[in-house]
Amino acid sequence: MNVTLRGKQAMSTALDADSDAREASLAHTFWLSFARVSGMVTASRWRGVRFLCYHSVVPVEDLPGLSRRTLVLTVGGFRNHLEWIRRNHYVVVSMAEALRLLRSGDAPRAQFVCLTFDDGRMDNFAGAWPLVKQAGYSAHFFVNSAVVGQSFARRFEARGVTRSYTEQFMDAVALRTVVHEGGSIGSHGHDHTDLTKLGEPEILQQLVESRRALEALTGGPIETHAYPYAHYDRRVLRATETAGYAVAFKVSTGTVRAIGSHNRFTLPRNAIRTGADNPDNYAIIRGGFDFSRFYSEARYRLRFR
Ligand SMILES: [Zn+2]
Repeated sequence: MNVTLRGKQAMSTALDADSDAREASLAHTFWLSFARVSGMVTASRWRGVRFLCYHSVVPVEDLPGLSRRTLVLTVGGFRNHLEWIRRNHYVVVSMAEALRLLRSGDAPRAQFVCLTFDDGRMDNFAGAWPLVKQAGYSAHFFVNSAVVGQSFARRFEARGVTRSYTEQFMDAVALRTVVHEGGSIGSHGHDHTDLTKLGEPEILQQLVESRRALEALTGGPIETHAYPYAHYDRRVLRATETAGYAVAFKVSTGTVRAIGSHNRFTLPRNAIRTGADNPDNYAIIRGGFDFSRFYSEARYRLRFR
């Protein structure tokens, strides 16, 4: 019930972040509500490990700028997630524990959740990590080795006014602190190039270089990779194995029950969507048929057919 109330509250903020949804009509609101209720009704009692793919977690005032570049939650929204995950008895595990469960065949014994973050922005360290620690959980951060410690000035237009902000990425100190405090790091490629657009030597170079650089920075092994833009093909899968990764992640809805040679380079992660505290995200964790996605895709097709 709390979720529904919070959902309604958050919906206007979530819609604000989505210019495509500004003309929210009564029918639109009705369908969104239908999608959410249907998602609850079909909620699946999944078993195994559900990997969640977060991007940025920022103070509410930073949401409008960064949501134009990536998927963003507010710090308050993320705090609600962690509370909701605990209240619903999902078991949060570290990446190492998740992989151990999947290899040993023990994963179907419960509903395990593994928190992962992409792109390595500084808000992961400043906004998300303190809450993860406070909850007694761990998290895994997929980082681009080329932008460690970098920051970029960004501008965007909002209601005819140009606004600016700084997009900052975790530095070596932040990465080492995360590892020291019980988190873990994986590779998201060297400079976030879409690997499917490269020749085979360059694909391998991205995978090897990011692994080497991140191992040098953190002093520990880098065994996981998340494909930039979640794009991969046969050549990318081959190179990921050659580069020595143990597992790699794509983005799609799903739960992993076991890990084997057939799926270790295409493990699904469930993408957490933008919105201060977007109610769709609870459906993503809960499982079941994703009516919200079905609805928004159908709407998109109608618009751009
Ligand atoms: Zn990314």
